[in-house]
Amino acid sequence: IWFHGKITRDQAERLLYPHETGLFLVRESTNFPGDYTLCVSCDGKVEHYRIIYHNGKLTIDEEEYFENLMQLVEHYTKDADGLCTKLIKPKLEEGTVAAQDEFSRSGWALKRKDLTLLQSIGKGEFGDVMVGDYRGTKVAVKCIKHDATAQAFVAEASVMTQLRHNNLVQMLGVILEETGSLFIVTEYMAKGSLVDYLRSRGRTVIGVDSLINFSLDVCEAMEYLEANNFVHRDLAARNVLVSEDNIAKVSDFGLTKEASNTEDTAKLPVKWTSPEALREKKFSTKSDVWSYGILLWEIFSFGRVPYPRIPLKEVVPRVEKGYKMDCPDGCPEVVYNIMTQCWILDPDARPSFHMLRERLQYISQGVQPVKGKRQ
Ligand code: AMP
Repeated sequence: IWFHGKITRDQAERLLYPHETGLFLVRESTNFPGDYTLCVSCDGKVEHYRIIYHNGKLTIDEEEYFENLMQLVEHYTKDADGLCTKLIKPKLEEGTVAAQDEFSRSGWALKRKDLTLLQSIGKGEFGDVMVGDYRGTKVAVKCIKHDATAQAFVAEASVMTQLRHNNLVQMLGVILEETGSLFIVTEYMAKGSLVDYLRSRGRTVIGVDSLINFSLDVCEAMEYLEANNFVHRDLAARNVLVSEDNIAKVSDFGLTKEASNTEDTAKLPVKWTSPEALREKKFSTKSDVWSYGILLWEIFSFGRVPYPRIPLKEVVPRVEKGYKMDCPDGCPEVVYNIMTQCWILDPDARPSFHMLRERLQYISQGVQPVKGKRQ
């Protein structure tokens, strides 16, 4: 709520001045990219404290260290500890306020008392994932600590509320707790992530027809995102989940904008990200198509890590020279052709998800004459 992203020193002063002592906000440092600045109003002046990011921890005075911004703010709320004043009142960020109002008005804000958290089922990039019960329905709950990531999510989440497709993991709503935690409630996907599903069962259990069905499921979701001009940016088998009845659904859309905005290409999943996105941050539906090609390779190699036996730092230079992964064992030639089309270096020359879906549908009819109930 108090996180204002990339605003300048002057903008911060205008937001805080001439307000009361103890009014504060956190912004991204303009002088030291990657660091944050805590701005506090104090006796009619605004003080700016640099928050240094050091060995994965945050500090102002290099004595007291914190895991995240929320903990830091909490500490200085209790005790000035060297600052001109303790932090008293957050200066609310406009976008966040608007998004929170939007949640309440549009009915996406769920009540905490209707949700029972049962047990932890996973650890994600953005926080713990729990199984829960929401008014008698089994649900998955992503618990996000209320720091910059949560705020970025809150700002983006209104987009998510507008997306609805049978192959997208459906969001049921969000809960913003007083303590600052954010819960994202989604449908429960009983069989977990696609990459774990493929690895644990392997080729003796899963047939090519099932692999094509998974590919088609994901492609249909992506065709829908393409039609809605929504770029996923982190498409990979780890971000696809499998339901009780073996339907694959794309998850974690809308959560990934932040990483790419912060110009921090170091955090991007190199093996899944297209060359133009890595080089120039040019994310588009066509860069999603590249990632989809990698995802197809993961599916048909039963969850192997892409570019096996190539050291990570050699991947990009080789790919830029035109290197493409081999056809996985037992993968139909027609499917491998699709992968190589997705990996054309010129983004404009790659097929659309619409075209890919038509081709996969055609292939699936050939492989599985009667597309009946899934096993
Ligand atoms: P994530 O934060 O999306 O990477 O999720 C971490 C792990 O939690 C995944 O690999 C899944 O095993 C599990 N998980 C996430 N979302 C769900 C869901 N909707 N249903 C069931 N399990 C989930």
